[in-house]
Amino acid sequence: MSLHETIIAKFQECFGEVPAHVVRAPGRVNLLGEHVDYNDGFVLPIAIDREIWLAFSPGDMDRTTLSAVDLSEDVSFTPETLLPKTDASGKDLPTWALYPAGVMWALREAGLATPALRGAYTSNVPQGSGLSSSAAVEMAFVLAWQTLGGWELPPMERALLGQKAENQYVGVNCGIMDQFASACGEQDRLLHLDCRSLEWHTLPLPNDIAIVIADTKMRRALTSGEYNKRRADCEEAVRILSQKLPRIKSLRDVSVDAFNQYATQLPERVEKRARHVVEEIERSVRAIPLLEQGDMAEFGKLINQCHTSLRDLYEVSIPELDTMVEVAQSLPGCYGARLTGAGFGGCTVNVIAREQADAFSSSLAAGYEDETGFPPEIYVCSASRGAELI
Ligand code: ADP
Ligand code: MG
Repeated sequence: MSLHETIIAKFQECFGEVPAHVVRAPGRVNLLGEHVDYNDGFVLPIAIDREIWLAFSPGDMDRTTLSAVDLSEDVSFTPETLLPKTDASGKDLPTWALYPAGVMWALREAGLATPALRGAYTSNVPQGSGLSSSAAVEMAFVLAWQTLGGWELPPMERALLGQKAENQYVGVNCGIMDQFASACGEQDRLLHLDCRSLEWHTLPLPNDIAIVIADTKMRRALTSGEYNKRRADCEEAVRILSQKLPRIKSLRDVSVDAFNQYATQLPERVEKRARHVVEEIERSVRAIPLLEQGDMAEFGKLINQCHTSLRDLYEVSIPELDTMVEVAQSLPGCYGARLTGAGFGGCTVNVIAREQADAFSSSLAAGYEDETGFPPEIYVCSASRGAELI
């Protein structure tokens, strides 16, 4: 049974009738441009064909009732219970319910109508693996309220409202990439986002390419502390470099040549962090003509360089991610492999010749398990459309 069929059946089970509407919203994976979003750089994500499906109908009075099928949990809330973050009976909202409630809050802050709804949802985006299951939930609910609310916003505006919900209501400090990719994804196309201007366009991803995601299933604690330290090091680099380069506002404004000229002014650790960012932004610029020409071999080299840089300069890898990448890079059909997302665990992304994707996936799983003793989770993905009403 497809997720579409499953969610209609589940909605009927919960609410005793057929849902009025169904939306789907995808997760995402980033191919190039890692740890550059908060330095005003460029990112190259795709929306993946793993997604949340939400079936819904108008609700009764002002009460929104949701069933999270994957968690076997239900919740009801109203506009009045949003600020205290409780359910309709006054109990604290469980974490998973903060995402849809946060979307309702952000939409209302923007003056948009959020009529009560009854909804049920299920997803095959793994949770907490760095494939943005949270952004998929947010984009599904923004679309649901758009459908019932009688207003319409362009996808980037919907993404910004989802990010606001996650930053300010859920309390997670994420950039705009996740919601952007889930909202703006296009079939067989890579997205290119300028994180400073929010201008974006798409680039071709050849049909004979598969995107293989490999989840180490390793999760390290302290990730948010390390993340904040990296951000502080980048700010420190800008502060010192701006004494020589007064017009720079972020590392985005520093060319590799200018960086090399002044790098000795920086403390060693700060220099390594900043070098990753400056060179990664340059890689993401060099990638554009390669993708336009369909030169996957050269594009793949940039992906491999990105991993080396994340491992040695930005120091956000862990042995399991390095093993997954090393095994991948030794296999036939692999153009490029690297850790994706914040690091310290989670997934690698691999650009693979499509006809070799199945063989690659089984060899990668076997090779990784041989080395580490743990079986990974492997997903063969393609670039999919963004969130949509079905
Ligand atoms: P990710 O990298 O997957 O986005 P996050 O920690 O940002 O990881 O978000 C995961 C959270 O999003 C989950 O803990 C849950 O609260 C919410 N979520 C994701 N998928 C679902 C789902 N299928 N049903 C209910 N809540 C979900
Ligand atoms: Mg998330």
